[in-house]
Amino acid sequence: MVCIPKCEGGLGVLNIQTQNEALLLKHLDKFFNKRDLLWIKLIWDKHYRNDKLPNSTTPRGSFWWRDILKLLEKFKGMASVLVANGKTCLFWDDVWNSQVRRIQYPELHSFAKNKRISLSTVCEAQALHDLFHLPLSVEAYHQMQELQAELSGLVIETEDDRWTFIWGSSQFSSSKAYKVLTGHTQVDPIYKWLWKTACQSKHKEFFWLVLKDRLSTRNMLRRRRMYLDDYHCVHCQQPPEETIMHLLFYCPFAKDCWGCLGFSVC
Ligand SMILES: [Zn+2]
Repeated sequence: MVCIPKCEGGLGVLNIQTQNEALLLKHLDKFFNKRDLLWIKLIWDKHYRNDKLPNSTTPRGSFWWRDILKLLEKFKGMASVLVANGKTCLFWDDVWNSQVRRIQYPELHSFAKNKRISLSTVCEAQALHDLFHLPLSVEAYHQMQELQAELSGLVIETEDDRWTFIWGSSQFSSSKAYKVLTGHTQVDPIYKWLWKTACQSKHKEFFWLVLKDRLSTRNMLRRRRMYLDDYHCVHCQQPPEETIMHLLFYCPFAKDCWGCLGFSVC
């Protein structure tokens, strides 16, 4: 809970493991965008010749590179390819032209000989039906015709593909990747108001505990199985238990305090 961003109800403490992943993802950005670096040329030439592409199920290469490939699914989840030569993108599984072909043509996909084929290999095929186990079902045949029409409109260039990210930029940002990895939740706007108030940090943290029902009232101590002689309010020594609502609103002492400020609590 403390690692959730402040505006979403947490304390905004950095999750070190997620931050590490966000930083490591930049290697995949450099790799797929074929940056002009020696290690990238080395890995492409040594492990991914003949239009082979990396995958996380059968990783190859050094320990370091195999560790990086564990993040491949996360990278693909936040990236899509702008097709140029189609050599860095998986035909069926990657997002290109805003679609995933495995989902768009599910019946045809089930007949594919190579489900990890690259886009460039598909485009260079002599005949599209060579890529599938024949005979096709009627539905798969219709999907192949649709695919054929789609591929005829696809322009393959000589330049390298460009990978862009779901935050609308081709520039990788580890801070944005961190936000994607941590996800997003809808919470009450009161948390935004709380952290924007001008009061001291210790007061903000106190009310954050109140909002999260984590204040160490006697009621909370009992819920945490902590033994006390008495769980009643320390001010009035009456039932009910010392809960947050009692302590802040219903206790006679609290009512007096609110009364001094001109508020009445029913
Ligand atoms: Zn009381």
